[in-house]
Amino acid sequence: MLAPLRFPLSESRGRTYPEPPHPYRNPFQRDRDRVIHSRAFRRLEAKTQVFTPGLSDHFRNRLTHTIEVAQIARTAAGVLQLDEDLTEALALAHDIGHPPFSHAGEAELNRQMQRFGEGFEHNLNALHIVEEFEQRHARFPGLNLTFEVREGIVKHSRDFAPGESPELDAYLPGLRPPLEAQLIDLADEVAYNTADLDDAFAANMLTAEDIADAVPCYREILETVDTQFPGASPRDRFHEALRDLIDRLVTGLIEGTVLEANASGATNSADVRLHPRRIAAFTPSVREANQSLKRFLHKTVYYSPALAESRSRSAARIGELFQIFLEYPERLPEAYQEETERQPSHRVICSYISGMTDTFFQRVYEQNAASK
Ligand code: MG
Repeated sequence: MLAPLRFPLSESRGRTYPEPPHPYRNPFQRDRDRVIHSRAFRRLEAKTQVFTPGLSDHFRNRLTHTIEVAQIARTAAGVLQLDEDLTEALALAHDIGHPPFSHAGEAELNRQMQRFGEGFEHNLNALHIVEEFEQRHARFPGLNLTFEVREGIVKHSRDFAPGESPELDAYLPGLRPPLEAQLIDLADEVAYNTADLDDAFAANMLTAEDIADAVPCYREILETVDTQFPGASPRDRFHEALRDLIDRLVTGLIEGTVLEANASGATNSADVRLHPRRIAAFTPSVREANQSLKRFLHKTVYYSPALAESRSRSAARIGELFQIFLEYPERLPEAYQEETERQPSHRVICSYISGMTDTFFQRVYEQNAASK
């Protein structure tokens, strides 16, 4: 497998504030534990993944989604003989920068910040959370995570060139992150594509036949299920097929990464960094299946009238609350009001709103919109 490409813990660039070693947990294990014990991690429970909670108790939220990503990523890292602890720490941290209301919230905060010539992006926000906002240690701000975990956070879904994001110049621009970090992005895709099918099925937005019409490999899976379980209920049939689909996608990720690694000629983790492309990849046929799945979900689920309506309502409310705080900064909590003496109000407001859960946002919005 890919043991030679595993990131060697001995080569870690370490923590910003040096700390004595722990007797039985290595630095990546400690990072994983710090993420789990952070407030930002617990808040994931009350943040929308795709489907707004309330309609059903069974939809994913950002916390259960994160656990599914960690499970998939750890399985892949284990089979490939990569560092499972680094992989797990990164999987658990990968969504902690998400604002309330998922991508609608992120897009609206970005729009608000663009009015001031700035922007909002959840991976950068996650970095700010682990470097500053989490206050759990007397000796330093943030969680003081290892360099590789911070780097993996900012390179979660994209690599960047030198000078492209000046605030990220310390994180090896122009180089690929370790293979462990590269796995997270694709494990994330496997997790959400399949989970969104499951949640949409539970919400009666689609049937197994709808998926089969759009995704040829799913049709194949469904035919096998029908041969194995003739007369199975639509629900059992759906779940049998879904499990097989997850398995195919994860297997495609493992096999595709081995193929890419062999083709790259990389013999150690330094070569992984220098390679012009990411080595973590699906096999070509699984990439194709994953793409058709995404197209199907966009059309049938993400842009469906049912979801579009609640998305635009959430975005409008974020914009409204942002504007209220700009006009009445005295309505911000005291700590944030003090912060406006050190940095521009729009940044303070953005960081306040971005940290909110959906439920807390709703409360603050109602208090403020009512008394405007
Ligand atoms: Mg995710």
